[in-house]
Amino acid sequence: MTDRKQYDVLIIGAGPAGMTAATYASRAELSTAMLDQGIYGGQMNNTADVENYPGYQNIQGPDLAEKMYASSTQFGAEYTFGKVDGVELLDNGDKLVHTDAGDIEAKAVVIATGSEHVHLGVPGEEAFQGKGVSYCAVCDAAFFKGESVSVVGGGDSAVEEGLYLADIVKDVTIFVRSGELKAQPILQERAKKKENIRFVWHTEVTAIRGDDNEVKSVDLYNNQTGEHSSFETAAVFIYVGLQPNTAGLKELGVTDDQGWIPTDEHMATSVPGVFAAGDVRAKDLRQIATAVGDGGLAGQEAYNYVASR
Ligand SMILES: Cc1cc2nc3c(=O)[nH]c(=O)nc-3n(C[C@H](O)[C@H](O)[C@H](O)COP(=O)(O)OP(=O)(O)OC[C@H]3O[C@@H](n4cnc5c(N)ncnc54)[C@H](O)[C@@H]3O)c2cc1C
Repeated sequence: MTDRKQYDVLIIGAGPAGMTAATYASRAELSTAMLDQGIYGGQMNNTADVENYPGYQNIQGPDLAEKMYASSTQFGAEYTFGKVDGVELLDNGDKLVHTDAGDIEAKAVVIATGSEHVHLGVPGEEAFQGKGVSYCAVCDAAFFKGESVSVVGGGDSAVEEGLYLADIVKDVTIFVRSGELKAQPILQERAKKKENIRFVWHTEVTAIRGDDNEVKSVDLYNNQTGEHSSFETAAVFIYVGLQPNTAGLKELGVTDDQGWIPTDEHMATSVPGVFAAGDVRAKDLRQIATAVGDGGLAGQEAYNYVASR
């Protein structure tokens, strides 16, 4: 006998994928827990307007997180706090999940740890975090009311967050490494109509500079002309890509060479009883609606796995 906590299903990550998996698993009467290193809701907590989730024309990300949390706990799933740093397979097929709050045993595990923003890796980026360097406009835009700020990137997040910033700050300059945006056309159109958003093409931020307390400027490199220049800005919001949150899960052997988790259409990984859902999966479209779809499948398949043992 062991005194560590035991569940039928342990879900790692309480974002939209994890919370939906919890709804399905607990509604199927499995003992279910969601474990998260932070507050439930995942990236929805950093999102202002969500306009593409069915049922809502527009809802604030944190409000949607609250609603999903209420759904996910209504059939008895528990939310618990802790950071996972490894998953071990036991001889009987159960999984031993190592966390900074102790070990937890489960018959099935759903990995729903999402992804996080890639850093630019330029001088000044780490030093000015919280002093003008940000990866979350919703969290930090209000600090820069009336000021000129920059965004780095050309995908959905860069343009979406640029639009959000433009309603709060004086003006937004978006530095794009290539000559075109990868963002969805509807976002591009909106941004191009905003008078206080300006795009600067073929331009890379090579350093972030400031004094002890705040960002003052960025160094720029035009990769078409080879020209170097400096640009005054109060803040730099960085959206240059995503990386999977699987650092502690590599030894389980379920990740590809970039750390994403491939699954079959049942959300099953290469290890029996270990499922993956949401942004952490190797897939094309990382959105709340797709995370929720994955989560529903993973919760149901976890039930099928537990019931068949
Ligand atoms: C700025 C921004 C705007 C967006 N706007 C939209 C939008 O308008 N519409 C839309 O559909 N999508 C939007 N998205 C994308 C959407 O938020 C994600 O696709 C979705 O949240 C993915 O859900 P998930 O559950 O897979 O992962 P996440 O939401 O990332 O949740 C993962 C959870 O796992 C936890 N976790 C990670 N590692 C560990 C660990 N080792 N141990 C314990 N817990 C861990 C994290 O704390 C987190 O709570 C936006 C994303 C961003 C960043």
